[in-house]
Amino acid sequence: MIYPIVKFGNPVLEKPAEAVTVFDGDLKKLVEDMFESMYEAHGIGLAAPQIGFSKRVAVVDITFKEDENAKLVLVNPEIIHSEGKHTQAEGCLSIPEFREPVSRARKVTVRAQDINGKWFERSGEDLLARALLHETDHLNGKLYISHLSALKRDLMKRKIRKLVKAGEW
Ligand SMILES: [Zn+2]
Repeated sequence: MIYPIVKFGNPVLEKPAEAVTVFDGDLKKLVEDMFESMYEAHGIGLAAPQIGFSKRVAVVDITFKEDENAKLVLVNPEIIHSEGKHTQAEGCLSIPEFREPVSRARKVTVRAQDINGKWFERSGEDLLARALLHETDHLNGKLYISHLSALKRDLMKRKIRKLVKAGEW
């Protein structure tokens, strides 16, 4: 099932998501729906709160369907190592039409559970590192705009408020 993407302004995006403790068919369905919703929205990463579920689940596919093996399911993920620094324009499906340069670690390792509850570690560089950080942030109720200067963030929020008022958000 394809869900609409929750947009900035909805409180579900700014509260820490709940840990997953049950690895059942419902979780598998949620992950399936998340991939479908992410692809439909042309994204390379999606966190469960972005479709309205406050659960610590994220999906990533930086190849956007090119490589089946690149599909990554992260349940209860935690960044356990990060190094280097890299600045690149970043966007978010929940904040459409905006992109801003964000500085993040260039290389990270995430520890997470898979769909069956098995723990694993995965390292990534550049775009994958950025996606892992961005999605893990989501599960902590944190959006990429929190990494911007207060000035830039306020400017974006003002633009968004205008869009909301105009019924275009
Ligand atoms: Zn996002």
